[in-house]
Amino acid sequence: MSEAHLEGLNPAQRAAALAEAPQLVLAGAGSGKTETLTRRVADLILRRGEGADRILCITFTAKAAAEMRARLTARLEGAAVPRWVGTFHAVMARLLVEDGAGVPGLPPGFAILSQAEARAVVMQVSGTRDVQEGAALLEILSLMKGRLARTPHGHAFTRFEPELLAQAAALMPDYQTALTARGAVDFDDLIALPVRAMQADKDLAARWAARWSEILVDEYQDTNVAQHRLVQLLAKPHGRVFAVGDDSQSIYGWRGAEVAQIRNFNRFYPQAAEPLRLEVNYRSTRRILLAANAVAACDRQALRKTLRPAEAKAPPGPPIALAAVETADEEGLAVAARIATLRRAEPGLLWSDCAVLLRAGFVGEPILAALRQAGIPARMVAEREPDPPRDILAAQAWLRLALSAPEDASADDAFRRACAFPKRGIPGSLFARLRDHAAEQGMSLAAAVPLFPATPEERAQFESVLQLARTIARDVATRRPGAADALQLAAARAGLAEGLRDAPSGLIAAWESAFAAAAQSPNLSAYLDALALGVTSADGVQPDAVPLMTLHRAKGLEFAHVLMPGLEDGVFPHFKAEAQGALPEERRLFYVGITRAKQTLWLSWVRRRREWNARPSRFIDEIPAQLFHG
Ligand code: ATP
Ligand code: MG
Repeated sequence: MSEAHLEGLNPAQRAAALAEAPQLVLAGAGSGKTETLTRRVADLILRRGEGADRILCITFTAKAAAEMRARLTARLEGAAVPRWVGTFHAVMARLLVEDGAGVPGLPPGFAILSQAEARAVVMQVSGTRDVQEGAALLEILSLMKGRLARTPHGHAFTRFEPELLAQAAALMPDYQTALTARGAVDFDDLIALPVRAMQADKDLAARWAARWSEILVDEYQDTNVAQHRLVQLLAKPHGRVFAVGDDSQSIYGWRGAEVAQIRNFNRFYPQAAEPLRLEVNYRSTRRILLAANAVAACDRQALRKTLRPAEAKAPPGPPIALAAVETADEEGLAVAARIATLRRAEPGLLWSDCAVLLRAGFVGEPILAALRQAGIPARMVAEREPDPPRDILAAQAWLRLALSAPEDASADDAFRRACAFPKRGIPGSLFARLRDHAAEQGMSLAAAVPLFPATPEERAQFESVLQLARTIARDVATRRPGAADALQLAAARAGLAEGLRDAPSGLIAAWESAFAAAAQSPNLSAYLDALALGVTSADGVQPDAVPLMTLHRAKGLEFAHVLMPGLEDGVFPHFKAEAQGALPEERRLFYVGITRAKQTLWLSWVRRRREWNARPSRFIDEIPAQLFHG
């Protein structure tokens, strides 16, 4: 058996990739945890003969899932890539669509509300018109679901006022009723509902658990209670969980992550061997690693880990840079000058090799302005991956609908979107009647149309949708296009391409990146599969630009050059952190920032940000002084 898929791993990584599950790999940043997890998936398929669809592989963001699929495609030498690679939410959404009948609280043919839609429901139910308040209430409800809790107790809730907590707790039943009435669930329900269902129904739990024989989870330190419980329930019959993570990078406590779950992994899986360590870092220079180790050592709760460079004799790398400037505008200029210098020194350098990592979005605004002023392309990376425009979602839905069998309930969502766009005036009440009829018959929406008790005109509205889908299917069958051409074809047939000619430039760019992302799929069915899991990240096809993003967003990523501005006490650590007992988590966020850097690290702070006189962040002092000098 060829072992090409394990080539280049160091002995510790190799042992981890081959270890018996359950197994935790607990290791510092850049030590190859994600790499090892990917190789293990390849090994399960190629060497141990595991069926690709028997593997459930969970990553933290859609972008990370897309990256993992791409790496697996390359490593698997033509063997099938697992279908179940995605975020917790994406894989559970798919499971519920395929096999969610009978889950309490899950409406048949359910829609998944966006954050904004869920907030609108909260505001309606609570009667508030204050968007901020609606958002805060939704956050509390979300945290409660993430803890599987009926009351808002625990450290994640301490940042809210007691009155607001009481109000949110009282709101929960009405909020759930309102969701059900809309035939919808929110994001957190995608985890909380199935966990509750499995806890209550042993047969359902056994059926779902039997789908997978291997479960792999990246970034385990940031799982919340519901996600951790979900993994336990799905792994119950076989215990085959392979988790990787770094408790020193746990940065989502404020969103309900429980770092104790990774620290106590072996208590939850008593049959597991001791956690494996990886200590060789392949990412950063020696100076950056020394800085990271020193900062991590200040976290007294963390499990001890040290990072050492891959090559013992490698040069230490340039000193860490620290700039003190007077105002936020000057900080913008300093960042622009720094990036221009880096680029001059290294002609092949891409703009996207230089990242500006932020504790808070407002620090980035003057920097973005200064970069643009200096003619350096830059973009602010959104905190959540934004939904593509509805035109593109509709084209994808038409394609999915066209290529699904009529009885396939997993195409219900595509059917719903195709009915809604381009607008053909199907009333919501009529759609709701079809949905009820389909639920009564236990059928998919498409299959329920022929016997739908309605007037011939009403039925004809749905039949014309299905007719058009069949036309697209026929075109695809005769022309056998690749994924990008198929998407284009669906857009044209559905009448979505017409608006394209005089569309605003943003929409045209979005179409282009949607086509480019489709073109990256090896074939049409892989593309449809990725769509179903929400992992068609178009990130890789954006024009080259310096990314500005929050440190939370940068988790798991790496850049040749990292710039961290805004290092003032009060900004970072956040001024409320100390009172809320959140200093250790702030420090871990700083550690995440440092460890994103491969070659250089540049820090700055501003003496007068807005009105106040600032002091440099206390975290800067935790980096040994000699690392700042050449
Ligand atoms: P993080 O904690 O930030 O998520 P990680 O532990 O997941 O980091 P990876 O992203 O898997 O680390 O790896 C860091 C870098 O090191 C990547 O560029 C990866 O390709 C490289 N790398 C990992 N293992 C090896 C190896 N054995 N040989 C060479 N390069 C490696
Ligand atoms: Mg990783």
